Amino acid sequence: MLKRIDREQQTKRVNMTYKTTTKGFTPLSIRTHKARKAHTCVKCSKTVPKGDNYTKTVATEDNMFMSNAWHSSCFVDHSEYIDDCNKRQ
Ligand SMILES: [Zn+2]
Repeated sequence: MLKRIDREQQTKRVNMTYKTTTKGFTPLSIRTHKARKAHTCVKCSKTVPKGDNYTKTVATEDNMFMSNAWHSSCFVDHSEYIDDCNKRQ
């Protein structure tokens, strides 16, 4: 029952989120923030400097709670990559 609700929420948010092929991935929140402290980008492992805009994603994956910071450009790159993968399937 819970799984079904999650899938409906995911479908509604499809324009602002991305899908992965990973089982059980459920995005909870994808937002752009201004960094109040330095973060490390999860994609390129470089620093997001304090004061810069960055994308923060919160998601659950196979019961693990994940909160990641991304350079906004890295997140766009990643979203496009995932979209491409989905189109090829
Ligand atoms: Zn980055």
